[in-house]
Amino acid sequence: MDLTIWGAAKQVTGSMHLLEMENYKILIDCGLDYEKDTYQEENQYFPFDPTDIDVAILTHAHIDHSGNLPTLVRMGFRGQILCTPPTADLTELLLLDSVNIFLSKQSKRTKGKRGGSGPKPLYLHKHVMDTMERFVTISFDKDFKINNDITVRFIPVGHLLGAAAIVLTIQDKGQEKKIAFTGDIGRKNYPVLVDPQPLPAVDYLVSESTYGGRMHTRDSTIEQKLVEIINDTCVKFPGRLIIPAFSIGRTQALVYSLNKIFSEGLLPPVKIFVDSPLASFATDVYRRHHELLNEESREFYRRKGDEFEFEELSYVQDKRESISISNYHEPCIIISSAGMLEGGRIQDHLYHNIQNYYCTILFIGYCAKGTLGNRLLRGDPIVNLRRRDLMVFATIKQTDLLSGHGDHEDLLNNVIKQDPKLLKKVFLVHGESKSLQSLAEAITESGYNVEIPEKGEVFKL
Ligand SMILES: [Zn+2]
Repeated sequence: MDLTIWGAAKQVTGSMHLLEMENYKILIDCGLDYEKDTYQEENQYFPFDPTDIDVAILTHAHIDHSGNLPTLVRMGFRGQILCTPPTADLTELLLLDSVNIFLSKQSKRTKGKRGGSGPKPLYLHKHVMDTMERFVTISFDKDFKINNDITVRFIPVGHLLGAAAIVLTIQDKGQEKKIAFTGDIGRKNYPVLVDPQPLPAVDYLVSESTYGGRMHTRDSTIEQKLVEIINDTCVKFPGRLIIPAFSIGRTQALVYSLNKIFSEGLLPPVKIFVDSPLASFATDVYRRHHELLNEESREFYRRKGDEFEFEELSYVQDKRESISISNYHEPCIIISSAGMLEGGRIQDHLYHNIQNYYCTILFIGYCAKGTLGNRLLRGDPIVNLRRRDLMVFATIKQTDLLSGHGDHEDLLNNVIKQDPKLLKKVFLVHGESKSLQSLAEAITESGYNVEIPEKGEVFKL
């Protein structure tokens, strides 16, 4: 059988891998590649015929893994899309959000360009609905027979609710072969999520490498860090803490950590606004799949009730409510998206607070080069918001304690749990070149065979 790495090859986004057997083709993930500004144009064609694919299997809902499924369906894919139940729910939210982003980009670029128009949306709401009809959900840790020769199993990896490694057992010309795709690997003791589960022994492993060569800080917990920052910003002074956060995953982890802090009385009450309608919908998905949250979180629920609801917290729905936060003059915490500050309601909060000495902006995720978040993190003294240059008087802070990815050690451990005599090859994807190189070196030193595939490179398994 052939494995072709069609995406996330020597880069992070656009995960897409094709497994071709004699009479059957499986696509693993179908993500948006958004390394370039022109990604809407870049993603509109596939290097294979979508009508030839028999089944698609999805590791998790993040848009760099799921975001091009509607294009696949629009171009004639008629098979099933297999994933875990929370992945289906979160993917629907993210794909619909993706359409809204396409539409807003289209209308923005139209302004001032008489008769012109912005990039055409890659797909529309109706295509997302057609895509959702193809989803078939399968629980974690159960073998599901795709046909007589192929079985799939979803293994929990933390990272995001529903996220799984995919393990395929394939009878190929009378020989059994096992192949695992890690998707994105989370980390231990992450708020709300289960720890990544070890993989069974496999013949081939396609692994992510995002944090290859890098280690997360381990000197404190997220609760300790938040207590310290809230104390400095909102208790000692009447300030505002603004936390840009992705609406799905990061926000729920943050809300749960804050709930723990305030329910244990570690700080006096401080008002918290979660200003993102998408975050509210995603939180409902977390509630709906409560049985899949980690033991600590379920225990919290048994003792104190809903992890995502408490006295100090308000979910902000409509735009008017969002605007009125500017008139709230008590110390408060505002959690809003987008995480890298590119658009979304967070920009309004920044506009009103970036010149406030009593404001702290806390980054809890990665900010890609070229984004406003990145400019603030590198210490730009002036930023442009709503076409105005504003001096940055707010304090800028960052923590990696809520990063959803395992670090170098976690990634390496995932490989070295495999028997080097059985594991024939490790393919490294989903990483920038430095990360890929240092993870590859560490894996090679441990006695395994490693490849860093080029985009479109084909491997005989
Ligand atoms: Zn992910």
